[in-house]
Amino acid sequence: ALDITWTKAWIARSADVISEHRTDLTTLDRAIGDGDHGENMDRGFSAVATKLADLSADATPGDALKMVATTLISTVGGASGPLFGTAYLKAAGAVAGHEELDGADLVAMLTAARDGIVLRGKAEPGDKTMIDAWTPAVEAAATALAAGKDEVAILVAAAEAAEAGSAATDPLVARKGRASYLGERAIGHRDPGSVSSALLLRAAVDATT
Ligand code: ADP
Ligand code: MG
Ligand code: MG
Repeated sequence: ALDITWTKAWIARSADVISEHRTDLTTLDRAIGDGDHGENMDRGFSAVATKLADLSADATPGDALKMVATTLISTVGGASGPLFGTAYLKAAGAVAGHEELDGADLVAMLTAARDGIVLRGKAEPGDKTMIDAWTPAVEAAATALAAGKDEVAILVAAAEAAEAGSAATDPLVARKGRASYLGERAIGHRDPGSVSSALLLRAAVDATT
């Protein structure tokens, strides 16, 4: 099972990978948005990385995820700040009080995160948003759990599905967010929030090694 050490490593790796991809995310958002997604996410996760050291010695994974939520809500801004903030808040709630996360906890956590984003943003699959990464990730994780896979395999399945789901936003017309103002001009561009979502889910895998 995965514990607070993994959760902290996931969060630290998330901050690193968002920083590494800051320019890429902004370039994607410049094509079909307002060109700030990389800056928004890097500002948020830099603040998160700073606060990681302040977590108490007996913090649970849920406590760490709740810290991420409140920090992102107060620092990221834009459309994505409240969406990711809600995702981490619901993820924290799904595993509240658990010291160790088993496969069922991971699926519950990812499902709650996705449901939180949908509750707030009302996007459906195919709307060319971060939901196009999260929904396949949740489904792949649930399938892996049902097949008896271990925690790492569940996270790998989620990350791979998120990456494929993000790539599949390229040909879509956007129906939510700024890109929806572009109509057919959004075709051929990848949704930035789906890319950052896939990076965060890949960081969860990398944190297991
Ligand atoms: P803003 O568009 O306010 O500048 P960001 O650039 O940080 O915010 O984030 C844009 C991303 O937010 C999009 O790429 C998309 O994935 C996501 N997004 C926008 N609106 C929604 C929504 N209603 N539901 C889900 N995701 C959304
Ligand atoms: Mg933007
Ligand atoms: Mg903006």
